[in-house]
Amino acid sequence: MKDDKSSANGEEPPSGQRLQLLKEFHSAGRGYWHDVLDADWNDWRWQLKHRITTAEQLQRLMPTLTPEEFAGAKLANTKLALAITPYFFNLIDPADENCPVRLQVIPKLAETQTAPWEMSDPCGEDSHSPVPGLVHRYPDRVLFLVTDRCAAYCRYCTRSRLVSNATGYDFHPEFDKQIEYIAQHSEIRDVLLSGGDPLLLSDDKLENLLSRLRAIPHVEFLRIGSRIPTFLPQRITPELCAMLKKFHPLFVSIHSNHPRELTTEVRDAVGRLADAGIPLGNQSVLLKHVNDDPVVMKALVQKLLMCRVKPYYLYQCDLISGSAHLRASVSTGLEIMEQLRGHTTGYAVPQYVIDAPGGGGKVPINPEYVLCRNAGRVLIRNYEGKVFEYPEAPDGTPTGKPPKEIAEPQLV
Ligand code: SF4
Repeated sequence: MKDDKSSANGEEPPSGQRLQLLKEFHSAGRGYWHDVLDADWNDWRWQLKHRITTAEQLQRLMPTLTPEEFAGAKLANTKLALAITPYFFNLIDPADENCPVRLQVIPKLAETQTAPWEMSDPCGEDSHSPVPGLVHRYPDRVLFLVTDRCAAYCRYCTRSRLVSNATGYDFHPEFDKQIEYIAQHSEIRDVLLSGGDPLLLSDDKLENLLSRLRAIPHVEFLRIGSRIPTFLPQRITPELCAMLKKFHPLFVSIHSNHPRELTTEVRDAVGRLADAGIPLGNQSVLLKHVNDDPVVMKALVQKLLMCRVKPYYLYQCDLISGSAHLRASVSTGLEIMEQLRGHTTGYAVPQYVIDAPGGGGKVPINPEYVLCRNAGRVLIRNYEGKVFEYPEAPDGTPTGKPPKEIAEPQLV
């Protein structure tokens, strides 16, 4: 795996060069599985069947596994199962303990340490669940949990209480009850399928579910949230895309956190979804040593646009139990947003949000651009730090004063 941080002489390249290196597209390659038939390697069911799921397998494939990781992998199945597709495993740099891909999927012993303010359900989903597997927190939309299984498991997962069923959570969603609730609530115009990963369902099962939702007259809009395009791009088959395009308007939100995850395989897979007319967004989680760096984040968002995916949300990592070692600070997140807004294409800038602990929903977090607002003027700051006055009476009518740049903002 190419080290995107070091140059030929071992020194970190300048940020412009580093950005370009991070934005290069590479294939994940075959690695350990070099003699597997193409037909098998490209078959999503083969990838699922050959996932790495035990500490011993991990150690055999990656002798550089640290004691902290081995111990974490041993304990993982009591908290959140260990599973990594062979495809995604090939993106890990075995020589780098802080490899940004490795940190996301290989458990560490630190996961077993829970701080007093951490929670098993940090977004308060269970308390907003009128029927099992349905979360109705916002007025006009619902979250429909279709499965508790994923192609691989993210060590910072907000729903680790239920996904993989390692903790014995009682997850038995009944599609009939969920659909009945949606049909009875005419205010629900938007249904987001999530989980676990909805694209793990077979094409037939997913088509059946989408047909039943489409048949509800007040459901205007369907969404699927999925990490499959990055964990298992082989799943994005032409047949799946042909089926999904029957249910427009249908949006898909993918999940990627580091530019290395955007391989040629992922670019092709999301290209198939885009060709099926599906608008694509990306959700990232701000993670320590993964993407808490403005250059890495800029490379990620620019590379997403090259894949026809709009960066949608950047989440502050939820206060999920055992995630402190992966959580970056809010001030780091704000600094990254400051380095994106104005410095790159507006389409590339995601909305940074904190999902308010306990169930308050997503709250947008932005650097301060409005410095002062009072009767007669609004003072604003641009991405270069220049200050401008926008004249405005309290009711919004012009005041007659011309707009101006404040030459000496420190005197304002
Ligand atoms: S794919 Fe999503 S639901 Fe599954 S483990 Fe990762 S964050 Fe959690």
